[in-house]
Amino acid sequence: MIFSPAEKIVLALLIAASLTGFWLRLGPVVRIIRAAKPDAGFHIGAIVPRVRRFVWEVLLQGKVIKDRPVAGAAHALVFWGFCAFALITMNHVATGFGLPLLTRSGGFGAFYFGLAAVFAVAVAVSISYLAFRRYLLRPVWLGKLAPESGIIAALIFILMVTYLGGLATDESTLTGHAFWWGHTLALLIFLPLIPHTKHLHLVLSPLTVFMKREGFSDIPKLAGDEDFGLVTGKDVTQLDALQAFSCVECGRCTEHCPANNTGKVLNPKEVILGLRSYLRAEGTASEAPLLGVHISEEAIFQCTTCGACEQSCPVGIQHLPDIIGLRRGAVNTGAWEDPFGTKLFLAMERNGNSLGMASGERMKFIEKAGLPIYDGTQEYCLWLGCMGAYDPAGRETVQALVKILRHLNITFGVLRKEKCNGDPARRLGNDLLFTSLAEENLQTIDGVSKDKAPKFLSICPHCVRTMSTDWQEAGRTVEIEHHSELLARYASQLPSAGGETREKVVYHDPCYLGRYRGVYDEPRSVLAQSVEVVEAPRNREKSFCCGAGGGQMFLGEEKGERVNITRARELTETGAETVAAACPFCASMFRDALKAVSENPPKLLDIAQIVARGLEE
Ligand code: SF4
Ligand code: SF4
Repeated sequence: MIFSPAEKIVLALLIAASLTGFWLRLGPVVRIIRAAKPDAGFHIGAIVPRVRRFVWEVLLQGKVIKDRPVAGAAHALVFWGFCAFALITMNHVATGFGLPLLTRSGGFGAFYFGLAAVFAVAVAVSISYLAFRRYLLRPVWLGKLAPESGIIAALIFILMVTYLGGLATDESTLTGHAFWWGHTLALLIFLPLIPHTKHLHLVLSPLTVFMKREGFSDIPKLAGDEDFGLVTGKDVTQLDALQAFSCVECGRCTEHCPANNTGKVLNPKEVILGLRSYLRAEGTASEAPLLGVHISEEAIFQCTTCGACEQSCPVGIQHLPDIIGLRRGAVNTGAWEDPFGTKLFLAMERNGNSLGMASGERMKFIEKAGLPIYDGTQEYCLWLGCMGAYDPAGRETVQALVKILRHLNITFGVLRKEKCNGDPARRLGNDLLFTSLAEENLQTIDGVSKDKAPKFLSICPHCVRTMSTDWQEAGRTVEIEHHSELLARYASQLPSAGGETREKVVYHDPCYLGRYRGVYDEPRSVLAQSVEVVEAPRNREKSFCCGAGGGQMFLGEEKGERVNITRARELTETGAETVAAACPFCASMFRDALKAVSENPPKLLDIAQIVARGLEE
């Protein structure tokens, strides 16, 4: 294809204008991210898991396809098409200056043009479907319709059609020339639109996925005594900013959010977009509060910290560091005023437990139940937690577990003194209270077992998570596992039952055991030995929260429908005779909820209670 000098000059000017438009928008975003404060304690760490995640989530589009197979596959084809078109685009521009890289006449060029043609058809079909879905099917989770998405979709379609048209036409003809210019103009209009729209994720999200903080929904370390969490723009970190600008507004996080699903104000997508609009309006040097105009305080305190948002986000956005960071900012500076929150913090401070019970009640239970005291010689230190020590149902679960431990000849003991590990304070952003509780507990532990670090066992996934991960903020963590993990290891020595008429049991995945710890199979395998396990429609990593986490259990009446009612209805509708819980908070949330949704509610038992039923007295 031959181009006149005038055409080459016009082409050069158009490219310069397009690149300028691209940088005029991308430049400020890059400057905002770079100007944000570095993330305290962030290390790139091991590269292999990061590369693995990058390959799965970015190159293979695994997460996108897994979550929404049809739309995800269409998105993946567009992405792979873009990758295939990188070389075609370089060749296209070089051809305009008389320096083509590929020829159609044979060899690699002929093969590659043909391959790109296959992708062009796939991309044209996929983008048409995605536009049809967005503008005609209109899934509620996509939110407001933005005209830019339609323009971008049209430009991608034109890019593919002009490529195919050019390929089917003699390059030297006027029509071939027209297709070349049509493709060029679509490309040069498309480029500056990318950073002006949510398609900015094309540029940022590969980096966001690669740089994501390690650990699931980990709460970042505070940078020092002067760090109170996310209070103003000055507190926003580089990763917070990078993630905020990477949001593709797909609404997957909102679709799975239990708070949003039950009519609360909280919408995790809007939290991320609120942070982005704050950064655009105020920047990272601003002392304007983050909560208020751009992000709602009410919404932030409705989060159950279930992690469904992070789990479902396809571009590596971690909502909980932001949500808990904002809670920290509000609580640590005294800006959050909530009578339930104040009562909870006082109970934890004065009584050492989140239920506000007299601390002496714990020892009375230990004596009555005949629990041995841990002295460093036993195999396990059984951590009772607030629910196991003070809640009547939690105590029954502990006693069931003790019966199993004795059956298995596993030695154990409980601490003479134990305080709440600080989970509700941690999730609600009260760092002072959390750290002091963690430190006191660590001192107690050191006092009973100087030579050998105890191995802890707990009936509560919140205790397991907090002590195994969050206590790092207070200096160090401890080795602890959930009873479902121990039971699964000893499954061969536990009772089993066969037959066709086994009891139908629906297992509810606690968020802090499933999403946070990746424990899905162990409780199911333990149950499957003696009962028939049935699944709720939302299970495993897609499970729906019970509504207790993140301190919500203590924060009074919920807006909209209660999360536990929604979940209890779903569990009841499976027709199971029994709901199996593996977390005393979940059990507590379902106790009344099951009765509220059914006149003939299923039984509610912890997995330890189900196993212990089969043991002889
Ligand atoms: S953690 Fe759960 S409740 Fe909180 S915003 Fe995410 S999905 Fe919603
Ligand atoms: S935060 Fe992630 S899941 Fe939520 S809308 Fe943005 S890209 Fe989608």
